[in-house]
Amino acid sequence: MKKEFKLSIIIPCFNEESNIYPLYNEIFKYIKDLNTEIIFIDDGSSDKTLDNIKELANQHKKVKFISFSRNFGHQNALKAGYDSADGDCVISMDADMQHPPELITEMIRLWQKGYKIVSTKRMHDKSLGLIKRLTSKLFYKILNLFSEIKIESGAADFRLLDKQVVKELQQINEKFLFFRGLIPWLGFSQIQLEYIAAERFSGKTKYSFSKMLHFASDGITSFSVKPLKISIYLGFIIAFIAFLYILYAIYIAVFTNNAIAGWTSTIISVLFIGGIQLIMIGILGNYLGKLFMENKKRPNYIIKEKND
Ligand code: UDP
Ligand code: MG
Repeated sequence: MKKEFKLSIIIPCFNEESNIYPLYNEIFKYIKDLNTEIIFIDDGSSDKTLDNIKELANQHKKVKFISFSRNFGHQNALKAGYDSADGDCVISMDADMQHPPELITEMIRLWQKGYKIVSTKRMHDKSLGLIKRLTSKLFYKILNLFSEIKIESGAADFRLLDKQVVKELQQINEKFLFFRGLIPWLGFSQIQLEYIAAERFSGKTKYSFSKMLHFASDGITSFSVKPLKISIYLGFIIAFIAFLYILYAIYIAVFTNNAIAGWTSTIISVLFIGGIQLIMIGILGNYLGKLFMENKKRPNYIIKEKND
């Protein structure tokens, strides 16, 4: 392997105090001979994460850190990493060792063969837990149904990007970042590796159910305007059903004596249309809210402190 290049590794950390040292030691096995910077992004942790990172940075000059003023979320932490990384290639990975560091060598090999993007895909394995596997599957199903670009199921934020790609990402300042969609959208020559997710080394998942819902809705609405078009389709379908119902109502009125018994169907149709309208207003509101936030042009994150 050629050694005259610089590798950056960016690692978002949110309350990962007991993972910092083990992770560093594990990564170090694969990078000890390489010119590497490891950038930890402390995403507003409330435990000893930042202290541990600082201690590590004092011992090893490869280690850099960025600490946010509060929790800005995983995707914004990644953005901060990409913004400050200056390697010839940049690898992003989770702090909990679910992304196997032994893949680093293979990623670099593929990059040296000329791929600008080496992404990874999590193979479904038992260690993940039924709920996570099911919700993840459902998420990618819905995402791809609505999205203009194809996003692989199980795509992970564990990837290598060439400097050229990172430069492009640095220019992108949208508020609702969703790298798993953004990366395929960028184009360039891409290749995908598969891995089996290990169990979390220590601590609990930092993606609570509500964070996961937000992530899913951002993923869909940041990448597609298809949900807005649902109203047109629904409108047609409902209008068609209504038309049939009108024919039926006319038939009842003209050919039978049961014309008054219509209360149930009236109430059902009113509620049904009302429900659909509320859903559509909700979708509109979601997009409008995004425009509103985007328009403020606030930064994606605020840095409290960093070294170098
Ligand atoms: N993370 C973060 N900010 C957050 C949530 C998560 O920086 O608000 C980091 C977390 O520390 C970890 C990575 O994002 O390094 C993935 O999170 P986690 O392992 O909890 O997600 P899961 O693997 O359960 O999907
Ligand atoms: Mg994890």
